[in-house]
Amino acid sequence: MRKVTLIPGDGVGPELSDAMRRCVDATGAGIEWEVMDAGEGVMKKEGTPLPEAVLNSIRKNRIAIKGPITTPIGTGFRSVNVALRKELNLYACLRPCRLYTGIKSAFKSIDLVIIRENSEDLYSGIEFFEGTPECKSVIKSIEDLSKKKINPDSAISIKPISISASKAIFKYAFEYALSHGRKKVTAVHKANIMKATDGLFLKAGQEVAQEYAGRVEFNDRIVDNMCMQLVQRPNDYDMLVLPNLYGDILSDLCAGLIGGLGVAPGANIGHDIAVFEATHGSAPKYAGQNKMNPTALILSAVLMLKHMNEPKKADLLDQAVSEILAENKDVTYDLKAAGKNDPTAVGTREMGDAIVARIKSLIRK
Ligand code: NAD
Repeated sequence: MRKVTLIPGDGVGPELSDAMRRCVDATGAGIEWEVMDAGEGVMKKEGTPLPEAVLNSIRKNRIAIKGPITTPIGTGFRSVNVALRKELNLYACLRPCRLYTGIKSAFKSIDLVIIRENSEDLYSGIEFFEGTPECKSVIKSIEDLSKKKINPDSAISIKPISISASKAIFKYAFEYALSHGRKKVTAVHKANIMKATDGLFLKAGQEVAQEYAGRVEFNDRIVDNMCMQLVQRPNDYDMLVLPNLYGDILSDLCAGLIGGLGVAPGANIGHDIAVFEATHGSAPKYAGQNKMNPTALILSAVLMLKHMNEPKKADLLDQAVSEILAENKDVTYDLKAAGKNDPTAVGTREMGDAIVARIKSLIRK
């Protein structure tokens, strides 16, 4: 039996994780789940939202799947999700965006892959709060070095982008393209304004692209233009590679194109560790209501099974989810025509039950 670390998370995480776990178990994947708590609940008990035991469990098992974890805005603990990616060097965030039959969308088909750099950019956590002595000192140093004026009541967030991390993410993307039959990689940036950081990112992409010339196409887009083009012509694109912040934002935009956050899966990949999680957050206002869509986390488990070299179990789970989505019967309100007011919508648990039942009937066939 293969051990996998399962972090249920907080907010709606535990109910989604429960549905995901039952679906994976129904495929017969034979996973032994090592359940580890992280997030708000543990913070109260242990004084940290990410106890070392959680990291050690992932380091040992090398594979984890997690529910979302809340990050309080402005104050409090730093994002557990960002810390986890950093601690375990999960440098690549993989977010496939595929439109399933039965889901309402402005488009007939969409099949995009987003690759987000996970370790640096404005998410590196180097921040200085307004008015602190450290912030004043940083402002003074920057003014001395740049000869530019900064408002004295500013806060400062630092955006490091390195050649090594940028090349690593492009290399990951091109290798993914080759191994998954993808044709084109598009680098997304704002190098016209941020010439130092985004300029470096683009140059790293251009250099790595040369190693794959003739095998995978390469082009680039400025991030604002990219947003407009994705909304109008998403099928002109195949794979997008972005620095951390743009990657975060465009992941949600693309989730919107394929039916919303309820169906957008993801994975954080390192050199020998992978942590699978949905694109969405903990949706705290819905916690405990049995309302949210478990599909995104279940499709993250499909990615996990593929990563574990269990393609048949992955396909079985994907097919069961595809059929339930196509029928649009046993699905949560976000996938129903009348949304929240649709009386035929089912809960998280019931949608999980329907997928489990479908897996069992597919196995019997
Ligand atoms: P969110 O993704 O939690 O929710 C935004 C809205 O999207 C919800 O109100 C809901 O309408 C919809 N939605 C989200 N998940 C859904 C699902 N499974 N089914 C149906 N609809 C769904 O975003 P938020 O409200 O900005 O963030 C809440 C918290 O989650 C914040 O603390 C944020 O930092 C955290 N967060 C965590 C992760 C993570 O764990 N990796 C990712 C993003 C945000």
